[in-house]
Amino acid sequence: VGEAEKNLLEGLDPEQRAAVQAPRGPVCVLAGAGTGKTRTITHRIAYLVHTGHVAAGQVLAVTFTNRAAGEMRTRLRALGITAAQARTFHSAALRQLRYFWPRVVGDAPWELIDGKIRLVGQAAHRVGAPTEVEVLRDLAAEIEWSKSSLIAPDDYPEAVRRRNRQPPVQAQQVVAVYQGYEKLKNQHKLLDFEDLLLHTAAVLEDHPQVAEEFRERYRCFVVDEYQDVTPLQQRVLSGWLGARDDLTVVGDANQTIYSFAGASPRPLLEFTRRFPEAAVVRLERDYRSTPQVVSLANQVISAARDRPAGSRLKLIGQRPAGPPPRFAEYDDEPAEAAAVAQRIKDLVDAGTSLSEIAVLYRVNAQSELYEQALTEIGIPYLVRGGERFFERQEIRQAVMALRGASADPPSGELPDVVRALLHRLGLTEEPPTGGSARERWESLLALVELAEELAATVEGADLSRFVGELEMRAAAQHPPTVEGVTLASLHASKGLEWDAVFLIGLVDGTMPIQFADGDDAAIEEERRLLYVGVTRAREHLWMSWALSRSPGGRRHRRRSRFLYGLVPDDHPAARVARSQSHGKPSATKLTCRICGGALVGTVPVKLGRCKDCPSDIDQDLLGRLRDWRSTRAKELKVPAYVVFTDATLVAIAEQRPTDTAG
Ligand code: ATP
Ligand code: MG
Repeated sequence: VGEAEKNLLEGLDPEQRAAVQAPRGPVCVLAGAGTGKTRTITHRIAYLVHTGHVAAGQVLAVTFTNRAAGEMRTRLRALGITAAQARTFHSAALRQLRYFWPRVVGDAPWELIDGKIRLVGQAAHRVGAPTEVEVLRDLAAEIEWSKSSLIAPDDYPEAVRRRNRQPPVQAQQVVAVYQGYEKLKNQHKLLDFEDLLLHTAAVLEDHPQVAEEFRERYRCFVVDEYQDVTPLQQRVLSGWLGARDDLTVVGDANQTIYSFAGASPRPLLEFTRRFPEAAVVRLERDYRSTPQVVSLANQVISAARDRPAGSRLKLIGQRPAGPPPRFAEYDDEPAEAAAVAQRIKDLVDAGTSLSEIAVLYRVNAQSELYEQALTEIGIPYLVRGGERFFERQEIRQAVMALRGASADPPSGELPDVVRALLHRLGLTEEPPTGGSARERWESLLALVELAEELAATVEGADLSRFVGELEMRAAAQHPPTVEGVTLASLHASKGLEWDAVFLIGLVDGTMPIQFADGDDAAIEEERRLLYVGVTRAREHLWMSWALSRSPGGRRHRRRSRFLYGLVPDDHPAARVARSQSHGKPSATKLTCRICGGALVGTVPVKLGRCKDCPSDIDQDLLGRLRDWRSTRAKELKVPAYVVFTDATLVAIAEQRPTDTAG
């Protein structure tokens, strides 16, 4: 046994080792959270490469989020593997399409869609369907679900009937919008995310020559988080494999959290039916979390109904004991956010690094209060799954400026050229003060860092190469990393881990989400989502909720039904933690999202731009603010107001602002 192999096997337990050393062919690892599934597959790839069973360049590993793919690349690099591909299904498909498209279609590659809701809106308008933004979002989600589930427009009504799924508008109207949207999209030569997969599958199915070429190139496939595979992804995977069976899958049926989007744990649970000779490995030891966190996770999931065989694994904690998970109840949401921010500050002061802390929530709109609270206390953060990096205004402007400049013979070192060009957009030598200006500066700086990375890895990389790289990343939603506390939705947190995790907003109506009520399957998915959240914590786990939404409001909320039986009655944290701000209106100081100037007004302003903001109202921003208003109002059932003064958008407030509205 070579030195490298020995090292690879040393950090594994016997079951993990069995999965790593299984001969090439079908392998299935069924195991709970934190048991080392992701670790096992990265080690398996490294093992197969180091023992000469496969060349690194022939390996394609797919995961479900860009962050997870990035982590896998990092872990593989640490094991000495650089040539293996670790990507999301979408980015793998995009890359392949770019390569095959000119030969198969004979045309310039189509563009990725930007502004999907707008296109759905056009289609809805043409067929007389409702065009309110929240309906359009639902329609877009419905089209995504149909495409991911391989349901053609005509089959939609029957499919929803069979699955007992409630269409957002009449099923026939969904059909008409779906058809109209597809038509418009093709006319404009645009692709959406599902198209990337659909076209890839079609190319592999209809062009045997191309498929053969692809199968020559990739010979060994690995899929992480296989419990959340959609029929469409499964079809792409089958296209990749052809008649071969060199496939390793790992997953945990208890962590299926995307079934609302068409995912199903069935391919995982029925893997041996498809590959009867598959090696099956079960892992039970939890290496991630303290025994206290593991025990809480076991409790959360043991209450689940209808757990399929193969998902009834109990986790056994391996780590030394840590602090007990903590529960806290607050009078109102701002008090909850302030307390969480203070706890985060205490952790950071005590030496926990920013990147080891996460605040996880059910819906993205919940992040705002935490953004405010962390800004006020001076803790940097990054939001995942909220506004996407490449959709930020400054980044769009920057990419446009860089693209414009790349036409000229681009002089000097790439990072210097990029820095000089971005200087004009606000990338000053010294960072500005003020939350949003600083944030903008940081994201521009992240582009320079990307340029440095590219210059270091690709010899002679120039500006046009860099712009190509940015476009590729934008298409694949692959942002650069920034140091800060993570704010993420529970959905975006899967596969990841932090030393300290705050699960916030655990009230009925938010967790489980209101629209799951009355639908047993949806409630079970919510429960699994909480299980995913709990199992992200290595050591510190805080779970909190607030009885009313705003200070002085009616305290009519109840803690999440999933918590009953988990919070011990005599637990000190089960007492109500009284809000500091009880009864008095909050007069939060906030900064403009656009220019960093102070926002005036004493109303609880959540998001906005100030009167002095230099630029004109940007339609795009306005659209996003409207979206925000409608989703927030819908999800949390509160009224929200957009405030204008002299045709300048001042702010969005959640209470009718008496002092600025006039
Ligand atoms: P999830 O279901 O959440 O994706 P997972 O099963 O993929 O979890 P990993 O992320 O691979 O779990 O591992 C969880 C943690 O445990 C990681 O920090 C990993 O390095 C560590 N770990 C895994 N196996 C071992 C082991 N045999 N010895 C020590 N640490 C381990
Ligand atoms: Mg994992």
